[in-house]
Amino acid sequence: MAEEPKDTKPGFQNPVAGFGVTFKAMFKKRLTEQYPEQQKTTAPRFHGRHQLNRHPDGLEKCVGCELCAWACPADAIYVEGADNTDEERYSPGERYGRVYQINYARCILCGLCIEACPTRALTMTNEFELADSSRANLIYTKEQLLAGLEEGMVDTPHAIYPGTDEQDYYRGLVTEAAPGTERQVAHSKGEVVQEADSTFGGTEPASEKVIGR
Ligand code: SF4
Ligand code: SF4
Repeated sequence: MAEEPKDTKPGFQNPVAGFGVTFKAMFKKRLTEQYPEQQKTTAPRFHGRHQLNRHPDGLEKCVGCELCAWACPADAIYVEGADNTDEERYSPGERYGRVYQINYARCILCGLCIEACPTRALTMTNEFELADSSRANLIYTKEQLLAGLEEGMVDTPHAIYPGTDEQDYYRGLVTEAAPGTERQVAHSKGEVVQEADSTFGGTEPASEKVIGR
């Protein structure tokens, strides 16, 4: 039979000792965070929502290889790759990610997918406010995950920088979209031509300017 713990203090001191703990805690630094009114900055390497990155001219880095999906232990990623064409190009190489989804009802934000990505197309941001009341809303699509356009970028689809190849993109030789680059018509999505000049998108380069290698 287990031995009863010995009570070393007289009975009347026990309640006083309990209040002593409370009293000491009153003078300690408060740990309560006033979230969401006050938001703290996360650690620089915090694992938050994913982002699909672009090259400096706006073309997408994702090549639709599905390595991220295979690396995911939670089966949270769904990728469908497709071939680029001269009329509809989303990435510098042969293939691009036509469909890309991450299910945040499954994702445990472990980061294995970003380690598996060969092109650094997939990285993680510091955004952590992912809660939602609907399972469907927790499935983020490519449009939601794709990085926004920065200065010098043109939205996909559009042609590769004239005079360059896929390797030049990965060597960092393309630093912005070629002058005259415009968004092509996305035939697969049935988008309507916005620009008056719809000749763009053929095999002709957007500009004669050739990048120096
Ligand atoms: S962070 Fe982890 S769980 Fe989430 S999609 Fe990437 S590999 Fe899967
Ligand atoms: S995000 Fe990276 S690993 Fe995933 S399909 Fe695209 S290129 Fe491949």
